[in-house]
Amino acid sequence: MEKVISKCNFYRDARSADGFLHICIPCKRNDIEENRALKRDYYRAQDRIRNARPDRVAARQTYAHTQAGRAARQRAHRRWKAFKALESRA
Ligand SMILES: [Zn+2]
Repeated sequence: MEKVISKCNFYRDARSADGFLHICIPCKRNDIEENRALKRDYYRAQDRIRNARPDRVAARQTYAHTQAGRAARQRAHRRWKAFKALESRA
């Protein structure tokens, strides 16, 4: 049976003739992960700069006081406690 390659397996790309990227979503994601790993320090520095922007800082503080923000903090805290418990056993 011939494998059907659906267009839903490709990201849209307005610049290409058929409107889709030339590589499939899993291959594109793989490329992105490889690129990020190769330029890890660069992207970390960019993230640090972006996270320090006053509008981003204010947005984080606003979000932290919402119900979703509190729930996210509780999830993170539970994961951190589980991680620490594993770490102390190792
Ligand atoms: Zn592919």
